[in-house]
Amino acid sequence: LSSGKRGGGTIQEEEQVAVRDDNLIDIAIIGAGPYGLSLSSHLRDKGIEHVVFGRPMESWRDRMPKGMYLKSEGFASNIADPGGRLTLRRFSAEHGRSYGDIGVPVPLEDFCDYGEWFRREADVPVDEAMVDRVSRRAAGGFTLDLADGRALGAQRVVLAPGQTYFAHVPPELALPSDVLLHSSAVNDPSRFEGRSVSIVGGGSSALELAALLHEAGADVTVYSRSLPTFAKPPARPGERPLRERLRGPIAELCAGWDCWGYSRGQAVFRRLPTARRRHIVDTKFGPQGGWWLRNRVDGIIDVRSAAHIDGAEPFGSGARLVVREPGTTRKVVTDTVVAATGYRPDVDSLAFLAEDLRRGIRRIGRYPVLSPGFETSVAGIYVLGVLAGYEFGPSMRFVAGTRFAARRAAAGLAERQATASR
Ligand SMILES: Cc1cc2nc3c(=O)[nH]c(=O)nc-3n(C[C@H](O)[C@H](O)[C@H](O)COP(=O)(O)OP(=O)(O)OC[C@H]3O[C@@H](n4cnc5c(N)ncnc54)[C@H](O)[C@@H]3O)c2cc1C
Repeated sequence: LSSGKRGGGTIQEEEQVAVRDDNLIDIAIIGAGPYGLSLSSHLRDKGIEHVVFGRPMESWRDRMPKGMYLKSEGFASNIADPGGRLTLRRFSAEHGRSYGDIGVPVPLEDFCDYGEWFRREADVPVDEAMVDRVSRRAAGGFTLDLADGRALGAQRVVLAPGQTYFAHVPPELALPSDVLLHSSAVNDPSRFEGRSVSIVGGGSSALELAALLHEAGADVTVYSRSLPTFAKPPARPGERPLRERLRGPIAELCAGWDCWGYSRGQAVFRRLPTARRRHIVDTKFGPQGGWWLRNRVDGIIDVRSAAHIDGAEPFGSGARLVVREPGTTRKVVTDTVVAATGYRPDVDSLAFLAEDLRRGIRRIGRYPVLSPGFETSVAGIYVLGVLAGYEFGPSMRFVAGTRFAARRAAAGLAERQATASR
């Protein structure tokens, strides 16, 4: 047995996760975020043995700013389980949290607690160790080297590691790590009280951080190449004007028939020509602030909306940025630079995956080619989450995508299991 945590108790309780005596597990899921947890609930439903590695909801707890609200509406923030019982609505009702399908922003804290509740209710077998390396095993399958020194074998491995490996910082922001932070490294806004902070970027993370850091007492400036935009407050279903209703239903990703297709038609999306799929994923759902941010940012925070950062250098204990705006270029001194410059999904950035495995994965651009059951061209390696985008569409980078992905991947894994045991 390996020392992991599982079952209906609290996360603090030490329990054990089943690993066979030969240190071999059937299915290892790397990542206990919404995708890993959702897949686990589907596998458990089919009676398929597996272990989920990593601390549950780690990226939501540690890599997003305290005080943040989710951009997805309540009804679009469900981690999918096979029976559709473990919804955010039910969690909220049982735990006295405010909830609305639409128009009630979901606090980050509530979503993290929901994830933990889901883990307990679905009895997800979690081993909290991080996986340092996945490599081929001489006897077949894969070897997992864990951060706590253990090594395990796994017949099949599902990669559900989220976006962390893909954090993108443009080269012009080359600065020491004590001065430059990617937005995913800003967890506690109160640390910035009394400091000047330059946020580079104009999307949802940039605007959310601008509001939170300002409210925590920082002196914030946002540098964006274009004028940031904010989503429109959603109309509740009964309040939608006829013209809007005719334009399409409210779907998880947004309102309209195209959104409905991206939210519900992932299998159809996969049949579109590759170039079309890439174009949709690369261009849809661009940077935009949540509707509830407008009056916390507009007219309150200095947003430079036609600003290009041409360079950056260390200066004293902070940094000096070269800021180009129409008709002028100036140098700006700041204590901290936050790169809210997004993520670039790329199989090659999965540092824990042995190079020969990475190389063996066929690609569309930087994304893997996947079977209908989410298996890569390296037999036994599966990919869930944002990297599945070029195959199954934009929903793969949102929690709402768990409904399709977990069901299909569980079916694919079950089918393989059945073939192997014949
Ligand atoms: C600021 C921000 C706000 C967002 N808001 C929303 C929103 O409102 N709604 C929405 O639908 N989506 C939102 N997203 C996107 C969101 O990240 C995804 O929808 C969701 O997290 C995808 O789930 P996941 O399981 O793929 O990834 P994650 O939630 O990131 O989970 C992956 C897990 O894998 C673990 N892991 C990684 N590597 C290893 C390893 N080697 N060993 C063990 N464990 C490992 C990580 O610790 C992490 O816990 C937001 C993203 C960001 C950055």
